[in-house]
Amino acid sequence: MNTASILGVQFHAVTKQQAVELAMSKIRSRQKGYVVTPNPEIVDLCRHDEKFMGVVNHATLVLPDGIGIIYAAKILGEKLHGKVAGIEFAESLVAAMAKENMRLYLLGAKPGVAEKAGANLCAKYPGLVLAGTHDGYFSDPQEVVDSINAAGGADVVFVCLGAPKQEKFIADNMDDIHSTLFCGLGGSLDVFAG
Ligand code: UDP
Repeated sequence: MNTASILGVQFHAVTKQQAVELAMSKIRSRQKGYVVTPNPEIVDLCRHDEKFMGVVNHATLVLPDGIGIIYAAKILGEKLHGKVAGIEFAESLVAAMAKENMRLYLLGAKPGVAEKAGANLCAKYPGLVLAGTHDGYFSDPQEVVDSINAAGGADVVFVCLGAPKQEKFIADNMDDIHSTLFCGLGGSLDVFAG
């Protein structure tokens, strides 16, 4: 996969459709991984936090979230195939998951939001299985890990805690969670909840 370096962040040059196809093939073959969707603010956070930069650059998919990244790539002479907003990638992935009756767990946002987002996604994409939800205001990450594992094997977990909390949660806990793909998606649950 071609990459475009923006201030040290290695973005993947993929279209939304290619990103979804790659994610689906990883899920089907149960190859653990995670997706990050850096916007300019996240690139700036990376510049000041080497560990966070490492987490971002080790992702299975690093998607350019926003036109600011595309302009930066142009100025730097790096090639990307247009923006792939996190929320748009997420919705297309859910649509593909629904066709294969895959299981989704939603973590993040204020109490009640993830449930509402899940209900809306299930209504829009029949076939999708909502494995479970948890709000994003917890003090014990282990309790969240246990609750995801108790939900009976979610294929995908959307981790929506804002950056850099969500990426750090994924890096610290993904090995202990019995799920395949983790996606850091910021405020997406608020949008899906409507
Ligand atoms: N959030 C959370 N736990 C926290 C802090 C934030 O679940 O400790 C949620 C917040 O409720 C919101 C999302 O994370 O739903 C962050 O949204 P924001 O738009 O700030 O993130 P961005 O999309 O800009 O990364």
